[in-house]
Amino acid sequence: MDNKNMSASASLRIDGDRLWRSLMELGAIGATPKGGVCRLALSDLDKQGRDLVSSWAGEVGMSVTVDQIGNIFMRRPGRDNALPPVVTGSHIDTQPTGGKFDGNYGVLAGLEVVRTLNQHGIETETPIEVAVWTNEEGSRFVPVMMGSGVFCGAFTLEHAYAATDTDGKNVKDELERIGYAGQQRCGDHPIGAYYEAHIEQGPVLEHADVVIGVVPAVLGQAWYDCTVSGFESHAGPTPMESRKDALQLATYIMQEVVAIAKRHGPYGRGTVGFVQVMPNSRNVIPGEVKFSVDMRNVSDATLDAMTAELGTYVAKLRAASGMGIVLQQVSYFPPCPFHPTCVTEIRAAATLLGYTTMDVVSGAGHDAIYAARVAPAGMIFVPCKDGVSHNEIEDAKPEHLAAGANVLLHAMLASAVVVK
Ligand SMILES: [Zn+2]
Repeated sequence: MDNKNMSASASLRIDGDRLWRSLMELGAIGATPKGGVCRLALSDLDKQGRDLVSSWAGEVGMSVTVDQIGNIFMRRPGRDNALPPVVTGSHIDTQPTGGKFDGNYGVLAGLEVVRTLNQHGIETETPIEVAVWTNEEGSRFVPVMMGSGVFCGAFTLEHAYAATDTDGKNVKDELERIGYAGQQRCGDHPIGAYYEAHIEQGPVLEHADVVIGVVPAVLGQAWYDCTVSGFESHAGPTPMESRKDALQLATYIMQEVVAIAKRHGPYGRGTVGFVQVMPNSRNVIPGEVKFSVDMRNVSDATLDAMTAELGTYVAKLRAASGMGIVLQQVSYFPPCPFHPTCVTEIRAAATLLGYTTMDVVSGAGHDAIYAARVAPAGMIFVPCKDGVSHNEIEDAKPEHLAAGANVLLHAMLASAVVVK
């Protein structure tokens, strides 16, 4: 890119009003009375949403292909179409009481990037694609992030096809029914770089009054079940020194979970969200307590250190108390650091455009996590009102959505390389 092109592209901006109108038009499909959207994966409404977005892609000259899990790829050719495309995207399925912006924003911001490039006659070296990933939410069908998961090899197409909803309808039949069981083999499609714009779904940006969140990573998660065994007896006659109170012992562990997370800041998270007390009776000393432990952090090293400290603490407490404590890991999702090049491009684009930025790790899952397994990937966050998402009242400001799309535009152009 020579200097002339660099200065020409630096002034380039997307059309925020056009982006907003598209968001509202897509949001009307499955609109709920409280201003949200209910557009469950592979429903009739999902089909209507897919048809609308695909028709918009056709209007701006993009080719549209669908793979076997129903992921839609809308492609704008580059100068060298043998090169892997620079891809952006997200999802348009929603929660039953979802909002207009979660996912939808990432897809329509991508479409707005292409509309802007067309409007200004800008050609790129590599093709540009906008992906609509199937069933990100995991509300109707599990696993979540299904389309991107199959695409990136996290699980098989057969596994995804067999998932059923509460009515017993499976993914394969529903894809065929709505006409989105495509021919393209999943993953048969190299990606040069992947960017995803998304509302933050948390309060950090809004509290800091910052417009662009640069996402260095998604937190990894280690989940445990813990069982503490004591001895049930009468709350009155049993002296304090001869009790085996499972709940009292469990509270030490619960406090330690939080203390460990605080010791491993700023990204450490420690939560006990589920507790069962047996027999759960006012005047009986608890004989058994089961509870969940959810620990998160940004790197393998910090998450490993947290889980090791929990293990050591439990072993010491078991020895000191003489009571039974069983700690069992039930799932583990590794931390997902995004690619330094993509993170740098996002930060550089935001700086170029004069937006305030800060690093915000993602505590929630996104399609970009799976994309990061097959390509350099990065994410852009914009604020959402009160940090609320997965709720009909989910809201975001047009100027913030425009800012995120502008950052997406310039980060994608840096990776796709402007030739004209
Ligand atoms: Zn989402």
